[in-house]
Amino acid sequence: MATGTLVIDPGHGGAGNIGGSDGNHAVSPSGVKEKDLTLILANLVKSELQSAATAGGHTINVVMTRTGDVNLSLAQRANIARSNHADRFLSIHLNGFNKVSRGVETYVRRPQDNVNLADDKRFAGNIQSAVFNAIKSADAGTHDRGVKEEKFGVLNDVSLGNTSGGHCRACLLEVEFLDVPAVDVLLNTGPNATAVRGQIAEAIANAIINDLVHP
Ligand SMILES: [Zn+2]
Repeated sequence: MATGTLVIDPGHGGAGNIGGSDGNHAVSPSGVKEKDLTLILANLVKSELQSAATAGGHTINVVMTRTGDVNLSLAQRANIARSNHADRFLSIHLNGFNKVSRGVETYVRRPQDNVNLADDKRFAGNIQSAVFNAIKSADAGTHDRGVKEEKFGVLNDVSLGNTSGGHCRACLLEVEFLDVPAVDVLLNTGPNATAVRGQIAEAIANAIINDLVHP
């Protein structure tokens, strides 16, 4: 049985840059914006988690950094984990690069300023494999790009509260490359897009519960 608080952070939102957070980044060929899809996926993860928690006898408090089309600074997003004494923080994004590169990748805060690197990596690895497997089962064209290290402000341990008594494991998921036509079909315009979004959300929810049950 798992008990814990999860903060889900749908990347971007609103218009313009606020404290290191761009209003939007990637856009799909059909016009779906990353900031809108991150919020859709975050809401799906929240409802999947609530159903799975009820079914499995888990007590999981889910907090969203935003529920509408608004932007928050990277520090404000992380601070929501600190003020809620969160156990896990998951920032959801979609990549955009050259309209060809594909794959799933998950980031943790780089080693030189990460006070719980091993824990973050374990959490990130669980998210990464769950999402990769969910997408792979719907589209063999994806790739496992693995867990990477970066100086992302939203994963800053000071802002998350981990240098002031907090115990929050944090990672940033890049679900797939939204600017690739095949990914647009997979996630947005194809006949199975709704189902695939649901499968990704269910995989994330199960990975979070497993991470809380087996810390
Ligand atoms: Zn992004």
